[in-house]
Amino acid sequence: ETRIDAWLTELIDRLHPEAIENDVFINLSFAQADCTASFDPNQIGQVVINLLRNAIHASTANGTISVEAYCDPEQLHIVVQDEGSGIDTDAIDKIFDPFFTTKSVDRGTGLGLSISLGIIQYHGGTLSVANRSDRSGVIAHITLPRQKSAP
Ligand code: ADP
Ligand code: MG
Repeated sequence: ETRIDAWLTELIDRLHPEAIENDVFINLSFAQADCTASFDPNQIGQVVINLLRNAIHASTANGTISVEAYCDPEQLHIVVQDEGSGIDTDAIDKIFDPFFTTKSVDRGTGLGLSISLGIIQYHGGTLSVANRSDRSGVIAHITLPRQKSAP
């Protein structure tokens, strides 16, 4: 059992230096204070960090990244949204492909989303990454079963 508020707060604290360095503000909000779920916090934490690093790299100075977590009876939802320029239409079908990157070699390997999708699927969840409809930027949405699904 992982307490989502404490776990995500700690995770975002860890990324604080990277956010500061890129002049980005990370806003974390919870729909419920006491939501818990059963998963490997290190593996799922790696996924959230991958999404946040993508969001930080896509952001321009003074951009805001919002991280929202909410629980329904079955699923935990984690939604990461940035205010960057989003993903080009010709790239959108390739972002989960291993080694697909639009970044220079020193900034990206193109493995982040591919590995993240594998981890989430292994946990019986879903991961979607799309352009926002309300403004420019990307919305990444993780769902995870709150009860561990037997592998
Ligand atoms: P990497 O970050 O190493 O390039 P990823 O698998 O994490 O590899 O992402 C693949 C590609 O998807 C990125 O190179 C980028 O083109 C696109 N992408 C992912 N997240 C975002 C985002 N938040 N904003 C804009 N583009 C993104
Ligand atoms: Mg990445």
